[in-house]
Amino acid sequence: MKSNGHSKSLLWTLRKRFTSDIGIDLGTANTLVHVAGRGILIREPSVVAVNKDNGEVLKVGEEARMMLGRTPANIVATRPLRDGVIADYEITLKMIETFIKRARHRVTLYQTVVVGIPSGVTEVERDAVLDACRKAGAHKAYVIEEPMAAAIGAGLPIVEPIGSMIVDIGGGTTEVAVISLAGIVHSRSIRIAGDEIDEAIAAYVRRAHNLFIGDRTAEQVKIEIGSAHLQEQILEMEVKGRDLVTGLPRMATITSEEIRLAIQEPIAAIVEAVKLTLEATPPELAADCMNHGIVLAGGGAMLRGLDKLIAEETGMPVLIADNPLDCVAIGTGKMLEAMEEDPAIRRMLEKASRG
Ligand code: ADP
Ligand code: MG
Repeated sequence: MKSNGHSKSLLWTLRKRFTSDIGIDLGTANTLVHVAGRGILIREPSVVAVNKDNGEVLKVGEEARMMLGRTPANIVATRPLRDGVIADYEITLKMIETFIKRARHRVTLYQTVVVGIPSGVTEVERDAVLDACRKAGAHKAYVIEEPMAAAIGAGLPIVEPIGSMIVDIGGGTTEVAVISLAGIVHSRSIRIAGDEIDEAIAAYVRRAHNLFIGDRTAEQVKIEIGSAHLQEQILEMEVKGRDLVTGLPRMATITSEEIRLAIQEPIAAIVEAVKLTLEATPPELAADCMNHGIVLAGGGAMLRGLDKLIAEETGMPVLIADNPLDCVAIGTGKMLEAMEEDPAIRRMLEKASRG
């Protein structure tokens, strides 16, 4: 008995030494890679710079993002998943390959990969993601729907017969899901999330201040002074842009109240998606959500007052996940660990990854 336990632990150690199992959050805005036993090692924007003349991938991640809006004619920097669907297949696959290779250490002999994908992707796209993982050297590859991974990452009791509601507000999509017994009972995905909020800010500044601002400035405004709910303190911010009339650079001062009103439309759409999902949820599960609260994840969860607004509009308690940007990546990592011991988790992964 004793020697058995011993040899198992030796095998176990060897296996761990030569494997690097990874979980990937393939987000519309950010891609994160979680390496088993080591945590999140890669956190980069989902941006790829490509040479248009020959299709060669030049940069992936942060370096490519620096090029957004600043490229010469023969280079394009794009976000291949921008709207939550794989807009550019080949480029998405190259991005996945690059990240998998970056996460691998020198002695990796065996690798299992779990990728969290937006729930809106088609079967063909899903299979392409699995292929890309194998091409990058993964021995086993699985996909999982992002809301499920986010729920696990946020610590919700997904395998129990208890309803949990997760709202993941990313860059391109907001995904709302009710989960119970390791399955998605009901879900809704809308293409309105952080990007739309940024666009609403840029449109407002153009209209009200005659100032043209870029995507990144709009995002900064959102993060610094944006809010979904009336705030006690009114904040101000100086923004730089191009005057629509003179065409010259100019500054303008913008208040948080202006921005709150400017982004009401996309915010209302997000709240509406939560309400519609609740309405379509069986009463027992909705009651569970009432007891445990709705959990917000994704970068959008950090928008000031969004939790309060959703709580008011739904009458449910609302909580923000501990590390909203990391939930999906942590969830994929937890699944990799759990699939060895928990048949329910393994079955769930196999089911999600099969046609
Ligand atoms: P995805 O999963 O689609 O890649 P993320 O969960 O990484 O998206 O979230 C990215 C989005 O979160 C972006 O739209 C970004 O502007 C937004 N975001 C990040 N931080 C904040 C913040 N503090 N307040 C509001 N929005 C934020
Ligand atoms: Mg996400």
